Amino acid sequence: MAVKITDICIACGACIDECPVEAIVDDDDNPTGEDIYYVYADKCVECVGHHDEPACASACPTEGCIVWDAPFEGQPSREEIGEDMRKGDTPCVE
Ligand code: SF4
Ligand code: SF4
Repeated sequence: MAVKITDICIACGACIDECPVEAIVDDDDNPTGEDIYYVYADKCVECVGHHDEPACASACPTEGCIVWDAPFEGQPSREEIGEDMRKGDTPCVE
């Protein structure tokens, strides 16, 4: 469970101080070497227990720069949908 910063990031710095668990580092400290900010997946808690939604994404001025998996409640995951289809009684045609 973690958000991810994509290469749309303009390194504006708006998100870094919003993070309650200091999971975000700036482009200078990005371990991938890219010129964008970076979220440590092992630190990010998606703001659960701190905010109703990821604070970094709320602060980010760039649409779609910070992404995460947020399925609707009760919505089956893509894996589950695939699993159900595989379980179907489709006769084997040879
Ligand atoms: S979602 Fe919350 S915990 Fe995760 S990086 Fe953004 S501000 Fe930090
Ligand atoms: S607020 Fe958005 S654009 Fe600005 S540094 Fe953070 S992720 Fe990048």
